[in-house]
Amino acid sequence: MENNSFKIAIKKENYIYNIKYLEKMKNKKVLPVLKANAYGHGLEVIAPLLYENGYKDYVVARLTEGENLYSVLEKEDVKIIVLESIKSLQKVKENSWLIMAINKYEELIEAIEFGISPMQMKLKFDFGFGRNGIVAEDFSKVISYIKEKDLKFFGIYTHLFSVDQKFGIEIINRFTEIVNELGKERFVQIDLQNSMGIFKFDCPIATHIRPGIAMYGLREEGYYEPQLRQVFKLIGGIAEIRNVKTLSKYIAYAPINDCDLGGYTNIAKVKIGYGDGFLKKNEGSKCIINNKEFKIIQISMDNSFIAVDENVVIGDEVNLYSDIWKSGNELEIKTTELVILVDRRIERVGE
Ligand SMILES: *Cc1c(COP(=O)(O)O)cnc(C)c1O
Repeated sequence: MENNSFKIAIKKENYIYNIKYLEKMKNKKVLPVLKANAYGHGLEVIAPLLYENGYKDYVVARLTEGENLYSVLEKEDVKIIVLESIKSLQKVKENSWLIMAINKYEELIEAIEFGISPMQMKLKFDFGFGRNGIVAEDFSKVISYIKEKDLKFFGIYTHLFSVDQKFGIEIINRFTEIVNELGKERFVQIDLQNSMGIFKFDCPIATHIRPGIAMYGLREEGYYEPQLRQVFKLIGGIAEIRNVKTLSKYIAYAPINDCDLGGYTNIAKVKIGYGDGFLKKNEGSKCIINNKEFKIIQISMDNSFIAVDENVVIGDEVNLYSDIWKSGNELEIKTTELVILVDRRIERVGE
């Protein structure tokens, strides 16, 4: 490994496997959510992989993410749905790849009057989360306006977040009623299931499922699918090995006497630290070297230190977060956060 530097290696095969698995489970096409740099996995790897496999519609949270995704792909025949409301209607008009979410009755009127085609709009209905979306008191106004003008849209959606069974079914029923009232032929895309929604509910009216976390084989408390495969590996090489006897009093900034080396006398240095988003919280957690677990004893800004046995040599591969679910639980951090936090100075590489 060159320079023993760290990278996030993306197992492309696992990503596609997960998507196909979800599609087969629900018999619906995946509309991939790529916000937060594709959940930390790297747009530059994930987006072309999706495109090559025939996925040309994507969801992001912000306009800047959408613009970034468009420039990464350099393809004309894509559609990028931006969930947050877009202020610059001119931008939407000029970019046919851009699909704006309509989060308010007023936004719909304004965009139509500005001359934007409804085929560049995706209506968002809110059923009580208060984050984004047309609110219940405006439902009937929106419905009559659409019927009167006989508009056809790119899509309609809502969001289930992590609702309980009863509330989830209520949302699905109310959403279904609205789509039926408007007529589903008005919409190319009808979707409401994030990963949790996919595992917990069936939504016959939906044309697509809209997962984020599950595509990456990551889990959340309470619901997950054990068949899904982790997509990323955070790997690098051992950069240096020192015997504790040759050190003075400190390992990095910690007094040696304060470090539990688990009986080992060799300290391996790796070139990743909290400056790379490898949190100091990981101190005391385990990594894998040559199929064996070793403890991370110190984390500084650019480097981390691992207590290792005599068989470990410079250049050996170190796998951090080999099981991100386990790491997350040990650190009491959501597994998605751990990946997303890995800084962009750590390269994302497909394999
Ligand atoms: C983030 C997001 C998703 C994906 O959620 P996961 O829980 O990661 O599957 C789907 N839809 C919307 C509107 C979102 O904001």
